[in-house]
Amino acid sequence: MTNKYMYFIANWKMFGNLKTLNSLNKVISFVKKFKKNKIKLIYCPPFTLLSPLNNKLKLTTIDLGAQNCHQSESYGANTGQINSEMIKAVGAKYVILGHSENRVLGENDRLINLKVKNSIKAGLKIIFCIGESLNQKKKKQTKKILSDQISQGLKKIKNKKKIIIAYEPIWAIGSGLIPKETEILEIVKFIKRKVRGSIVLYGGSVNSKNINTLKKIHNVDGFLIGGASQNSNNFIDIIKKSFN
Ligand code: PEP
Repeated sequence: MTNKYMYFIANWKMFGNLKTLNSLNKVISFVKKFKKNKIKLIYCPPFTLLSPLNNKLKLTTIDLGAQNCHQSESYGANTGQINSEMIKAVGAKYVILGHSENRVLGENDRLINLKVKNSIKAGLKIIFCIGESLNQKKKKQTKKILSDQISQGLKKIKNKKKIIIAYEPIWAIGSGLIPKETEILEIVKFIKRKVRGSIVLYGGSVNSKNINTLKKIHNVDGFLIGGASQNSNNFIDIIKKSFN
């Protein structure tokens, strides 16, 4: 960890309902007692749970984030979409952008860059996801891919302080596979050199077992956690073990 905080970001993806939120009571009481000034916890539920979760987290140190937003800075005739101002208004401080599950649906770097710009304008902080496919990794193109995603996705963003970069190899997401420690170490170093002073997280199949290995990578500032964050016991376990 080279940053003041260790970040733990829960990406609930398309899971969860009002009942599920009760399971967070455990996390809330855990955080109250645990190294509060050392961890930053951010929950990114689906849009439908932003408002109720905001109410639940009001008296806690846990922050709220959305999983994506529309690129437009204004309101308009965009059925089914939500802009960054609406996300901010509901109490969220963060938004995940550039997730590979959205890139695969057609989000390109130019669109992501627009989303980044307008989300910063709306007052949100960005959890900016980058990562290579298995094929790109095999061809040893990882650094080139990440470099392009950063240059284009963060084009003309002067104040990088609003950006948290999450390195998420596509092949590691939801697969149970993770890169070697040395690979993560090298890639995180590469990203930090490219974006000076940035906070860099690792994401992709983080769980309560492999955290014992992942926590040893000293330049990683925290984790973006999908599957394992949906179970409060697992999530708490991951946080606890990160500090053991
Ligand atoms: C993610 O999708 O951001 C993620 C890290 O998922 P998982 O932990 O399930 O691999």
